[in-house]
Amino acid sequence: MPVKNRRDQVLEEIGLTPIWQLRDRAPADGTGAVSGALATEQAARLTTNDSRITDAGDRRTAIMRMEWPGLKEAVASCVDCPLHAKRNQTVFGVGDQNADWLFVGEGPGAEEDAQGEPFVGQAGRLLDSMLAAISLKRGANVYIANILKCRPPGNRNPEPHEAMQCEPYLHRQIELIRPKLIVALGKVAAANLLASDASVASMRGKVHLYRGIPLIVTYHPAYLLRSLQEKARAWTDLCFAVKTMRGLQAGANAPA
Ligand code: URA
Repeated sequence: MPVKNRRDQVLEEIGLTPIWQLRDRAPADGTGAVSGALATEQAARLTTNDSRITDAGDRRTAIMRMEWPGLKEAVASCVDCPLHAKRNQTVFGVGDQNADWLFVGEGPGAEEDAQGEPFVGQAGRLLDSMLAAISLKRGANVYIANILKCRPPGNRNPEPHEAMQCEPYLHRQIELIRPKLIVALGKVAAANLLASDASVASMRGKVHLYRGIPLIVTYHPAYLLRSLQEKARAWTDLCFAVKTMRGLQAGANAPA
């Protein structure tokens, strides 16, 4: 019997068989990271609890001036929506701050709330396998974040007010990371990033834009755990994401 390589094993583990071949695979070492991170600016150490911040516009402006340390502090101490009351801790996001790839989920579940890291539960293990299937790894040219930084009780969908209060944090993270491609995982992520109520099914297979950054939509890993028949579609989406990324990287490296 032929020996299976790691990718084929991963695809089998996550149920993405029969195995499709990615043509012209990109280097597995994740080369081609974004150059020219934002020019360093003094960290604006205003927290959102600062008494000088009087309205939503000021709050957003303060957040949009923050660098990583100030932003992390602001999120950790945020009390700007009711979700803070029940959280164990905020879940900021994790990964390579210069990543080409940004994956955005919905919000922390129980395990994420306990550990302070996104996608560490069962859905997270599937996400890691999905990343491995396209030669990516959490933390290496990949950043993972959520629409919400605090766990909604019972893992319910975010209320509009909660998502609205959290939005500037993710917006600022995206500005700092400057990913080449955003992958929205599921309806909540897609709806909030694209301000659209369209179904995931209708948004798949297209390149959308989030503030000028290419964005593609696929199913949420937790949904895939419940809907095995959609895994093949998710694999199609991952292949489309890889192809899109290759085009973006080639474009970025093309002579002017
Ligand atoms: N689901 C999400 O959307 N995000 C997480 O971090 C975990 C589960």
